[in-house]
Amino acid sequence: MEERETTYYVCNVCGYVSDGILPDECPICGAKKERFVKFG
Ligand SMILES: [Zn+2]
Repeated sequence: MEERETTYYVCNVCGYVSDGILPDECPICGAKKERFVKFG
């Protein structure tokens, strides 16, 4: 079995999910990256 780690960053403001990349700011609501919560 292969262990695959996928990291998600979820915008704490609007719920936008970025797959694997932490954006400088949210493309939807413009929240700073500090507002993103890391999953995975
Ligand atoms: Zn957002």
